[in-house]
Amino acid sequence: MATIIDGKKTSTEIKDELREQVAKLNKINSDVTLCVIQVGADPASTIYVNNKKKACEYIGIKSLSYELPEETTQDQLVELINELNVQPKVNGILVQLPLPKHIDEDKIIQTISPDKDVDGFHPQSVGRLSIGQKGFVSCTPAGIVELLKRYNIPIEGKECVIVGRSNIVGKPMAMLMLRENATVTVCHSRTKNLAEITKRADILIVAIGKAKFISKEYVKEGAVVIDVGMHRDENNKLCGDVDFDDLVDKVKAITPVPGGVGPMTIAMLMRNCVESAVIK
Ligand code: NAP
Repeated sequence: MATIIDGKKTSTEIKDELREQVAKLNKINSDVTLCVIQVGADPASTIYVNNKKKACEYIGIKSLSYELPEETTQDQLVELINELNVQPKVNGILVQLPLPKHIDEDKIIQTISPDKDVDGFHPQSVGRLSIGQKGFVSCTPAGIVELLKRYNIPIEGKECVIVGRSNIVGKPMAMLMLRENATVTVCHSRTKNLAEITKRADILIVAIGKAKFISKEYVKEGAVVIDVGMHRDENNKLCGDVDFDDLVDKVKAITPVPGGVGPMTIAMLMRNCVESAVIK
C-alpha cells in the first residue's frame, strides 16, 4: 500500500513553526505584514484569498486586504502597488490572479518589488531561481520539494518527470528539482509518447489541468507521484490531474487531492512572508 503524503498535516506543522517564529519577532517589536489585493469578485479567487487571510491570522501575520472593484484601471493598480512597495511596514504583496482582462498581468507582476514578491512570480525571482541565487521561490513548487523532504523521499540522482510547463508550476518546479540534483525531464502538450517518458520517473509531478488524466499506464511500479491539479469531478467531488484510485496500489507514495499539494502552497506563501520580514 502506498504512503499517502499528507499535505494538510505537513502544512499545519509548518504553520506552527512559523507561528513560533512570528511570536519571537513580535517580542522584539517586529511585525510581519502581507498585503492581499483582489480585483473584482471572482468566487474562486475569493475562496483562495480568504484561505490566505485565515492562514495569516493563524500564524500571527497581519494581513491588509485591498478588495478593488472590477472596473479598477491598470494605472490605479500600479499606483497602489508602488505605494505599498515603499512602505517599510509591508513585507509581502500578493495580487490574486487571474486579473480582469483589461489589466496586463505581466505588467502587474513586474511592478511588485522583488523584495516583496512573496508569490515568487517576478522575473527577477524566476531568474534568481534559474541561476541558483537566493530569492523568493514560487509557492507550489517550493511546497512540493518541502513535502518530499519531510517524507524523507530522496531527490538527488533520481529521474524526475514533470508534466506541464506553466510559469507558475512546471518551469519553476524543473529549476527546483535541478537545484536538488534530480535528473529532470519536462513534458507538455506537444510531447510525443508521453507514457513512455512518464514511466521512467522515480518522481512524477503532474500539473496539466486535466482531471484524472494520469492513469496507471503512465506510471512505473514504485514511483512517487505528486498531483498538482485541482478539479471537480462528475459528482462534484474534488480530484486532481491523477486518477488516485487507479494508481494507489502501484506507487510507493502519492499526494491526495484535496489535502496534498494545495495546503502546502499556502504554507510556503506564509514562509516567504516571514522570510521577507527576517531578511528586511
Ligand atoms: P496551465 O497553465 O494550464 O498549464 C498546463 C500545462 O500542461 C501546459 O504546459 C500544457 O502544455 C500541459 N498540458 C496540457 N495538456 C497536456 C497533455 N495532454 N499532455 C501533456 N501536457 C499537457 O496549468 P497550471 O497553472 O500549471 O496548473 C495545472 C493544474 O494545477 C490546474 O489544475 C490548476 O488548477 C492546478 N494548480 C494547483 C495549485 C495548488 O496549489 N494546488 C497551484 C497552481 C495550479 P503546453 O504548454 O504545451 O500548452
